[in-house]
Amino acid sequence: MEKVVVIGSGVGGLACGALLAQKGASVTVLESHPFIGGRCAAFTRDGFVCDFGVHMFSLGNLGPHGQAARRLGVDLPFVTRHPSCRVMGRADFDFPLDIKPLPRLALLAVRLGIKPSRLPGAWKLFRALLSGRIRPDMEDLTAREYVLRYSTDPAVHVFVNCLCQLYFAVDYLTVSAAEFALCFGRMFNESAFGYPAGGCKAIPDAFAKALYRAGGRILTNTRAVNIRVENNEVQGVETKDGFFPADRVISNAGIALTAGLAGESALGREFVERAGKLRHSNPYITIQYALDRPVIPYPVVFHMPNLPAEEVFSYVQNRVPPKDPYIFMPVPSNLDPSLAPPGKQLVIAGTAAPARAGKGLCDEILDVVDAKVKELFPGLAGAVIREFRTSRADVTGLTGHPDGEAIGLAQTPDQSGPRRPRHETPVKGLYLVGADAGARGIGTEMAVASALNLADRLTGPAGS
Ligand SMILES: Cc1cc2nc3c(=O)[nH]c(=O)nc-3n(C[C@H](O)[C@H](O)[C@H](O)COP(=O)(O)OP(=O)(O)OC[C@H]3O[C@@H](n4cnc5c(N)ncnc54)[C@H](O)[C@@H]3O)c2cc1C
Repeated sequence: MEKVVVIGSGVGGLACGALLAQKGASVTVLESHPFIGGRCAAFTRDGFVCDFGVHMFSLGNLGPHGQAARRLGVDLPFVTRHPSCRVMGRADFDFPLDIKPLPRLALLAVRLGIKPSRLPGAWKLFRALLSGRIRPDMEDLTAREYVLRYSTDPAVHVFVNCLCQLYFAVDYLTVSAAEFALCFGRMFNESAFGYPAGGCKAIPDAFAKALYRAGGRILTNTRAVNIRVENNEVQGVETKDGFFPADRVISNAGIALTAGLAGESALGREFVERAGKLRHSNPYITIQYALDRPVIPYPVVFHMPNLPAEEVFSYVQNRVPPKDPYIFMPVPSNLDPSLAPPGKQLVIAGTAAPARAGKGLCDEILDVVDAKVKELFPGLAGAVIREFRTSRADVTGLTGHPDGEAIGLAQTPDQSGPRRPRHETPVKGLYLVGADAGARGIGTEMAVASALNLADRLTGPAGS
């Protein structure tokens, strides 16, 4: 039986491990933390089940999560809502789950505040995005450059910029147009934007269940310290508790940490230098409000700042607090009431922060977010039982990545699509899986798509 060791129990590592175990491999997942799930983990405090992230899932059950769960034969139900979200700030309206019907799309353009004379350009842009067609030249463009082909309207630009930060934790000045168009097209064609019943930890839990059922194991509190390679072939993984021999090692630890674990002598200078130079997405930092009563009636709130498009995220570049914050705010207990004690509400407000931001700067940014949330929902301040904050350092603690990136490698034109790092490494039997390698998409969905792709490469497509 082929022995596989997976380093890391993020959603990508677990899904890949489970898929390989299902095909007959003997799979051991090594996880340095006492819990599984990586950036998709959650913690429970006073009966509130709080995600580490500000998680929503663009494709719900119809994307890679559902695809993996169905292949693995485990339940992973998602909750969707129509309207899916309340847009606030620069515009104020309920965002429909399904924007495909033409009257809804037209109304969306009006509600976003697009000037009447510029509606035709915006209309063409939305239709092009919804067509799902990715032309090869879009791989070389940023989302901003692409949008400029259709529209100069400030409302269009702010909307796309905020969506890029939401999808990729990178602004539209730097994100790949192809990646943006693909994710926008998929999300709004599927109309399945949702949240897992049981909270986002239901995703790693479902994959772990499938792994155990197929005879695999997960060793928590077990950090990989070295990937042993001989004659350019992987031999296994060293931990402080011993050596785990393997025919294949699949690293979910990200490309930079994997390069450190295997070393330049095994991977070669070119690979290690490239891994060190790749750019990461921004961190996301959060305030989690545990409330003694329901205050917010929406499943999600999306606050778009009232600023020119190029200023919306300049604070990240300048490493200062924002003037008017972009906020993405799921209300998990409105999607699944079991995530808060009866009669109470859990709200998670998140925004982008600069790479490696210290606690002081994270707190200054979150102070601005807190003030805006309390301005938008005046009843919230009086209902707070407890507030918890997560900073860039918390994500670094989860992943070991000093930048504290929310997603993985930034999906810039030079690092996404055909230019994303591949699963294969220069070492025979050593592969990368997760948000850094081999797939497109949004956050966890990209990580699980990476797992599906790698499992197919190693064992043949599903069903074979
Ligand atoms: C605040 C925030 C908000 C987000 N919002 C969304 C969202 O709304 N939607 C969405 O889809 N995505 C979102 N994401 C992104 C998403 O969570 C990540 O892209 C995804 O979870 C990455 O999964 P992964 O499989 O690459 O592994 P990771 O989650 O990075 O997990 C890697 C695992 O490897 C382990 N590990 C590392 N090194 C070692 C070692 N040496 N030995 C053993 N174990 C090791 C780590 O402990 C970790 O458990 C968000 C992330 C954050 C932080």
